[in-house]
Parts: sequence; structure tokens; C-alpha cells
Amino acid sequence: MKYYVMNLGCQMNQADSERIQSVFSQMGLERTDVESEAKVLGIVACSVRQKAIDRVYSKIHEWNLRKNEENLITFVSGCILPADEEKFSDRFDLVFSIDELTSVPDRFRQYGVVTPLAQFEGEVQAPPAPTARDRLGISSLAPFWKVTPTYSSPFEAFVPIQNGCDKFCSFCAVPYTRGREVSRTSADILAEVQALVDKGYTSITLLGQNVNSYGLDRKGDELRFAQLLEEVGKLGERTGARFWTYFTSPHPRDMNTDVLETMARYPVLAKQVHLPLQSGDDHVLIRMNRNHSMDRYRSLVADVRRVLPTATLFTDIIVGFTGETDEQFENTRKALGEFQYQMAYIAQYSPRPGAASARWDDDVPADVKRGRLEALNDLLRQTSLAYNRSLLGRTVPVLVTKADRKSGYLSGHTEGKVTVRFPSDDPSLVGTFVNLTMESAVPFSLEGRLAAPPTGTS
Ligand code: SF4
Repeated sequence: MKYYVMNLGCQMNQADSERIQSVFSQMGLERTDVESEAKVLGIVACSVRQKAIDRVYSKIHEWNLRKNEENLITFVSGCILPADEEKFSDRFDLVFSIDELTSVPDRFRQYGVVTPLAQFEGEVQAPPAPTARDRLGISSLAPFWKVTPTYSSPFEAFVPIQNGCDKFCSFCAVPYTRGREVSRTSADILAEVQALVDKGYTSITLLGQNVNSYGLDRKGDELRFAQLLEEVGKLGERTGARFWTYFTSPHPRDMNTDVLETMARYPVLAKQVHLPLQSGDDHVLIRMNRNHSMDRYRSLVADVRRVLPTATLFTDIIVGFTGETDEQFENTRKALGEFQYQMAYIAQYSPRPGAASARWDDDVPADVKRGRLEALNDLLRQTSLAYNRSLLGRTVPVLVTKADRKSGYLSGHTEGKVTVRFPSDDPSLVGTFVNLTMESAVPFSLEGRLAAPPTGTS
């Protein structure tokens, strides 16, 4: 029997999906990317954006029509608001949160699906299903985190280090969909990283909604984030393996120089910092409930530049947040110029169901939001181009990630995650490091040529 999973949302959902796929495979189901072949159809959903929710409803409507002709089982999991969970229960056969994943084989049995479960059951004990999302804790999440994921890439992996968020930014629904922050044990995380390094993975991203508050929910029993990074750094030294470790996303409130100094010490900790700005105006930051000021952010950026002078700096920005005035937007524009980001993910504000700000007037007109977005993108193109030009003539290591859209070219990224393409028709380079001499630059990417034979993955 074949199963099909549609993955919506962020990297965290992708990591969840990789564990869901492992459990299904261990149940004897075979994965397919062809929806019409599958008898088990599921969605790893994202309640954070209305568009994603609309896709869930449209897909389940289609699948339920198919049920008139054939026997199908449908499921939904992922990032789901409690209100949506109730509505989904009427439409899907199974609705489960990630901490209930290990009970899924039992629930399948209730549908009379015969699968070779024995091997799986020996490996993971199904916990009793919690009834409320806020009961998620280390005890209910531990079995989920123990599932070995079916990684979608042979060289790049996302390793969850925590689930949930305690920050309650007013524009965000994550604390309601994923519950409060729960840190995975460092022993589990380091075992997963070690296994990936042993398999030759060259890019590892530690994932969480708020990675630098890692361990704070288990005071005294767990490492802090900087210590966790230190352990990954030591693992790199011990094995002598060559890989780049990234983390996303940190929150400016919990970022500290310990993290930056640890990154500076170990070559396997990539020199790239993603520091969400969201707004460059103190008043808007208060309304967003970000709990830090622009002064605090400014001093963090100064620390990044001092401790990690070669690091690239990425950010997230929302324009047209409810009530944002021209003057407040202007402060964000100035901040973008001041911090000279290499990359910024800029979004026009839209109310997210379940978030506090969804109750406020979405009062910045669509054309004003669009204009603000374009103004920031124009500026970002300039700061990105200035940085890319500074690399011209230099030879830098690049991790090759895929065939480029331009025929006869491969593409990859620098340690700082700047995209580079180069002429090559050797697919065996994908997943390995090469040295490239940078020859031309445009905003957001560079073109280079091979400077030396590939250095391999370890
Ligand atoms: S830190 Fe804020 S934006 Fe990030 S997940 Fe938590 S509530 Fe959402």
C-alpha cells in the first residue's frame, strides 16, 4: 500500500514530515509522490497562514470525493490551531499532533490496515495520547524525537532541537499551534548530529522556533544553547569531518555573546547569523511584543561584527504591520541600510488566524504595503550586491547543492549562505565542497569557476 504526504509550511514541518515518513515506512507502507497511486493520503499542515489552511480544505474536499470510488485513509498533522483541529476531525480520518505519531500504527489497525508493525513496535513505545496541546512536554515528545527521520536529502539535514515557543509575538500563532517551548535532550540531538556526520552529511541545521532559548525550560538539567553548539564544535574536531552547522531561528532577546564566541572557535559552526528584525521602530516592536528595543538589536549586530567579522547577516522583516505609520516604516528602511544585511526575508503583513494581532485592524492599505516592500527590496538588492562584489577575485569554499537552472552549471552556497553558480556538468559534486574563484556578482548571487580540485566531504 502506498502513501502520499503533502508538506506545507516551514523547515520545522519538513523535519516533522521526515519522521512521519519513517513511521509509515516502518509500518510497511511505500511512499509515492504520485497522489493518485496512494491509498493513504496526508498533509503536514501549517495553520500559520490562511493560504495554507485553504489548501488543506481544498485538498481534503478532493480526497473525500475520491472516497466515493475507492477506499482511502486520510490524515493531517503538523502545525494546527486547536480551532482547526476540531474542524479537521470532521473531514480527515486521523488528526494527530507530532507527539502522537508513535500511536499512529495502533490507530491504523483500527481501520483494519494490516502492516508489518512488529519491528516498529519493538523500537518505540506508543505513549498515551495527550488531549490538549499545552500538555506537550519532554515526556510526550521524546518518542517522536527518537524516530529516525527519512531525510529528504543525502547531504543536508534539519535537526529539531526544540518544539514550541514562549514568546507570543502578537503577529504569530506558533505558541498556539505548537505549544510552549520544550527542549529535546542534548544527548539525542548530539547522537543525531553524530550519525549524520558519520554518513558524510555536509550541512546540518539545528532547528527550533527560538533556538537560543534552548535548555531554558529545563534549567540545570540541560545544556544552554552556546554549550550545545560547543558540543557540536567538539564533535567536528573529534571526527575531523568537514561540515557546516547552521541554526534557525534565534530571537534577539535571547541572543548573547557566548553563542557568537562559540561560533568563532569552531570551523564546523558556519559563520552566518540570522537575526530577525521584524521592524526597525521601537513602537512597532512593542506592539509586536518582541520584547527588545532597537538599541538592544543594534548592540547585538555590533557584537556579531566584532566577534564574527566574516559572518553574513540575514533577517526577517514585516512591512505594513497593523498601525505602522510612514515614519515607523522609515525607521525600518533606515535600519536595513544601517545593518547592511546580505539577505532579508521581507513579508507584507497579513493577519494570521489565532495570533493576537488578527483581532486588530489590518489598516495599512495593500498598495502602501506593496510600496514599502518594494522600497526595502530595492535597498536590499544594493546591500547584497555590495557584499557580493566584495568577494570578487577571491577563492572561497562552496557547498554544491544542485544542478543550476542554467544548463551546464551547478549551484551551491558559501559558508555565509550566498548562492553561487559555476560551470560544471559533474553531478557527483553535489553535496561536496569545492573551491570557487568569484568572477561576477549580481544581487543575491555570484558566478565563479572551479579553482582547485574538489576537496571532498571529509
Ligand atoms: S519567537 Fe515570535 S515569531 Fe518566532 S515562533 Fe515565537 S511567537 Fe512566533
